[in-house]
Amino acid sequence: MNRAHYIGGTFLPHGDDTGPHGDDTGTRPLINPVDGTIRGKVPEAGRETVDAAVAAARTALGGPWGSTSAEDRAAALRRIADGIQARFDEFVEAESGDTGKPRELAATIDIPRVIGNFRAYADLLYGRPEHAYATAIPGWSTGTGQALNYTVRRPLGVVAVVSPWNLPLLLLTWKVAPALAAGNTVVAKPSEETPSTATLLAEVIGQADLPPGVFNLVHGSGVGGAGEHLTTHHDVDAVAFTGASATGAAIMRGAADHITPVSFELGGKNAALVFADADIEAALEGTLRSAFTHSGQVCLCTERVYVERPVFEEFVAALGERARSLTGYGPMISAAHRDKVLSYYRLAADEGAKVIAGGGVPHFEDARDQGFYVEPTVLAGLPQSSRIVQEEIFGPVCHVAPFGTEDEAVRLANDSRYGLAATVWTTDLSRAHRVAPRIEAGVVWVNCWNLRDLRTPFGGIKNSGIGREGGAYSLDFFSEPVNVCIQI
Ligand code: NAD
Repeated sequence: MNRAHYIGGTFLPHGDDTGPHGDDTGTRPLINPVDGTIRGKVPEAGRETVDAAVAAARTALGGPWGSTSAEDRAAALRRIADGIQARFDEFVEAESGDTGKPRELAATIDIPRVIGNFRAYADLLYGRPEHAYATAIPGWSTGTGQALNYTVRRPLGVVAVVSPWNLPLLLLTWKVAPALAAGNTVVAKPSEETPSTATLLAEVIGQADLPPGVFNLVHGSGVGGAGEHLTTHHDVDAVAFTGASATGAAIMRGAADHITPVSFELGGKNAALVFADADIEAALEGTLRSAFTHSGQVCLCTERVYVERPVFEEFVAALGERARSLTGYGPMISAAHRDKVLSYYRLAADEGAKVIAGGGVPHFEDARDQGFYVEPTVLAGLPQSSRIVQEEIFGPVCHVAPFGTEDEAVRLANDSRYGLAATVWTTDLSRAHRVAPRIEAGVVWVNCWNLRDLRTPFGGIKNSGIGREGGAYSLDFFSEPVNVCIQI
């Protein structure tokens, strides 16, 4: 696959086939996290390439796209969804290849959701209410003494979309679809670790009859690279970003120069609260899934588990046993990320944690031993203030601690600088209603995890983000209301 920049409706002659182009700073190898082999190259866009992409997006805004009807845009989104569906297996292969995640995960979660993102926003365009207000003007002697106010929404303009490697195309299209639906043009930069499905998306969009420049793609890294050039660009009207909290802070500082609006989905350190009255089997299976899906590399994964004292010992032992029996899991995205996760495993041991399961590197006696695997790990025994309990690790690891009362459970859940998601396990309906709204997180699941309805608000509080995505919330971010007042 030639993972090239896509600008103004054309793939530039970069990528695997040729050397660097323009002011590109070269290419970087794309590593297969399963076995450490090189599976391709990714170009590193320089400033000129990013400028060209932003200019193409700006030009496209002034072209036919700028005057498309909602109906036309919805039809365009549906053509994109159909184009991805037609190449479903290729997308699954590319996503699983870049991330190392099992094909089944890509085939059941990532790519169906990518298609769902485009279809959902095509449908949602018709559900948008427009507001009108009849305003009396007391004492006015001309006309009817009335004014009609109506509010229309206009696109923001050129939107920069920057996304991470864990759910590469799912998270990229979660922003691209509503941005296009609202009439913007887009310059997208996927993670340098996972460029393949975004490239396939550009191919699909190229055949979906959208005007050139409506969707543009630049590849490259973040700090000092394409990501930074794009998010600090003077001609970008908004930045939609998903990634680490520290990166969000850096992007915010850069965006401040041009007062560029930002939408941020950032890190998490998500808590699960297991009450003694819970269906323990469901809580165990749910916690196992929420801690170890995609080897813990999902922002919504549980890294802190708090269990009510009467069932604590039983729960920890059973969770450890299930974690030890997990097979078929994928690797960390990169050697660097594997090393980071392992450094936390060592830190846990240094901090005096009880290692209930895992804590090291698995041995497969095959090519995976050259890959970036770590063991699913369950820890216990650390104080709430320890770094393991406070810092996002983003690997297959959770720490389990006991609590005594409902108030204490809520206090422990909220004792975090993050506030993305939480899970409550209880069969007491009143307790569920009491506890859920007290938890400082953007999403609280009760007796389930990661059930998503694309119309609902999604996002974090505290260091976990700014703003909400999903349904009308995304369309609100990607458009600006304009009020028109007419005297009648
Ligand atoms: P990251 O912040 O390192 O990188 C994300 C993207 O930002 C990449 O495309 C990268 O090239 C780019 N980038 C990095 N530095 C930049 C800079 N200074 N300016 C502009 N762009 C820059 O994150 P990651 O390691 O790819 O992803 C893991 C993180 O993402 C975790 O913290 C995880 O919790 C978070 N995440 C959050 C959500 C959510 O919805 N809240 C979803 C998925 C992942």
